Amino acid sequence: MAAARRYPLRPASSGLLRDPAPPVTNTLQITDIPVAGYERVVRGVDASCGLHAIIAVHDTTLGPALGGLRMWPYASEDEALFDVNRLSRGMTFKSAVAQTGLGGGKAVIIGDPRKVKSEALYLAMGRLIDSLGGKYITAEDVNTSVGDLEIIRRATRHVAGLERKDGGSGNPSPYTAYGVFLGVKAALGWTFGDDSPKGRTVAIQGVGAVGSALAKRLVDAGAKVYGADRNIERLKQLEKEIGLIPTSESEILTVKCDVIAPCALGAILHDQSIPKLNTPIIAGAANNLLLEPRHGKMLADRGVLYAPDYVINAGGIVNVSVEFHPGGYDEKVALGKIERIPQALKELWTISKQERIPPSDAADRLAERIVADARGAKKSASCAVPPRSRSGGG
Ligand code: NAD
Repeated sequence: MAAARRYPLRPASSGLLRDPAPPVTNTLQITDIPVAGYERVVRGVDASCGLHAIIAVHDTTLGPALGGLRMWPYASEDEALFDVNRLSRGMTFKSAVAQTGLGGGKAVIIGDPRKVKSEALYLAMGRLIDSLGGKYITAEDVNTSVGDLEIIRRATRHVAGLERKDGGSGNPSPYTAYGVFLGVKAALGWTFGDDSPKGRTVAIQGVGAVGSALAKRLVDAGAKVYGADRNIERLKQLEKEIGLIPTSESEILTVKCDVIAPCALGAILHDQSIPKLNTPIIAGAANNLLLEPRHGKMLADRGVLYAPDYVINAGGIVNVSVEFHPGGYDEKVALGKIERIPQALKELWTISKQERIPPSDAADRLAERIVADARGAKKSASCAVPPRSRSGGG
């Protein structure tokens, strides 16, 4: 492991800062963590504010690595490292298939959000992000908010997903929900030959930001929607507002229905849950739904059509990526790109059928190929003899 180095005292990206950052204390220690297959993984520790963070930049072949900043009370640094690396690689795959022009990265702060959050902590995190010189761009994730990003932005300009009034693309959840809705329709069309949700039944696990927006769209389109959530008040509210049928947490994955849309947690598809499914389709927003890659095959063997999670839930990242277009954020452009999700899914299901592989494997192969092709193209461009030399400088 590389020796710790002190982060130099300097104002971060000063030209773009809105608010003056408090004086920088020279206490942030940055160390590289070598991880095979990752471009750069760094640890940032600042004892003065309790920061212990890791940024994993998996791959920037397709563009700067964009991925959210998660805060979580990991039991150990190893656990945090495992999570950030896995999530970072997932972002490379997601952005590759969604053609966002971005690479994959992720960041985590180790700590209990109720205890460690402070202005000083986020400013130190901003300096850690800034030290990567734009290779990594941060955004909101579990236990971080747009308010937290506003503080981070005082130390680095490499922040995305701020509010519209601040030049950002705003809350990504409605865009993720729109993409999932379109993906559910594509799955219905693929399975039943008719993509209309009218008269279909959909069970949504988790009716939070994405799940509730998805439920509303499905009900508006004529579907009968079951929903489960830890937040009972939210369930009651949706029952009153849109006629959602509240269902218990223990039953939601076994309900007999046309689609199960997991919009809460990852790793819910495994040896125990898959045999109990009573649906021909799994299509939802949650990341890393398969506990292990082999569970993709288990679903296929049971005749369940799976919409690979990082393909169907790409609406949010697609929306954020439009911030980086030359003309800045434009909702029309974002919606147009999100509307390509059904086509991407149909292509994967076609490959899956032709090559007799699960859709999850088809998605991984496609993502790997997109990145490898881009890497190859970059390499050959950098190796190409400039035309002037070839013609003898004439
Ligand atoms: P959220 O926190 O707003 O909603 C999640 C909901 O799930 C909460 O209401 C929570 O009470 C509920 N929940 C937790 N455990 C549950 C359980 N065991 N059974 C039933 N409900 C449970 O999160 P969100 O932004 O709506 O995201 C939902 C999922 O989609 C997450 O896995 C997230 O990583 C993924 N995702 C979100 C986005 C986005 O734009 N928000 C983008 C891509 C992927």
